[in-house]
Amino acid sequence: MKNNTSSFNNIPFQTLFSEEMISSRVKELGLQIANDYQGKNPVFICVLRGGVYFFSDLTKAVPIPIELDFIQAKSYVGTESTGNVELIKDLDSDITGRDVLIVEDIVDTGRTLKFLISHILSKKPKSLEVASLLFKEGGEAAGYPIKYVGWNIGKEFVIGYGLDYDGKFRNLPGVFLYSEE
Ligand code: 5GP
Repeated sequence: MKNNTSSFNNIPFQTLFSEEMISSRVKELGLQIANDYQGKNPVFICVLRGGVYFFSDLTKAVPIPIELDFIQAKSYVGTESTGNVELIKDLDSDITGRDVLIVEDIVDTGRTLKFLISHILSKKPKSLEVASLLFKEGGEAAGYPIKYVGWNIGKEFVIGYGLDYDGKFRNLPGVFLYSEE
């Protein structure tokens, strides 16, 4: 991990993963996924909204035919988990009998993912795997193996590359530590 700071709108943030680091890690994951899904036509599911940048970069880094769909759940207010997960937007396509890959921005307590996995499994896909850019300590509570992980991180709150603080900072090109000062 890098220890440098970057400035966004004159606010200094400590960089955890730079744009360059993310780009090279996403390319590695893309090739690994393409290799695993060779000869298949998987459906990649973007978990809105945080997963949007990871999803768009990852899907372009997978040089095989794939289909895209989108789902949205809500579980967070500010920096605290409410513990409740609610489905806001369901999939549009029929994934019964399909190879499905959920693409998440971050797994923290694992509650959101646990909810999404049980929802998606109820649609009877042929296979289900998960890719998450970041995996926080304790995320094992999802109770499902996460096959593709960008990086494991500690319990710190991070922003950027899709991750927000109260709706802001999603468009930072890297991942940064958020602090209130
Ligand atoms: P979980 O249900 O795993 O506790 O939390 C998953 C959701 O909480 C993520 O999809 C994300 O929206 C939000 N979240 C968890 N940790 C962080 C974090 O460090 N930064 C931001 N911006 N969101 C987080």
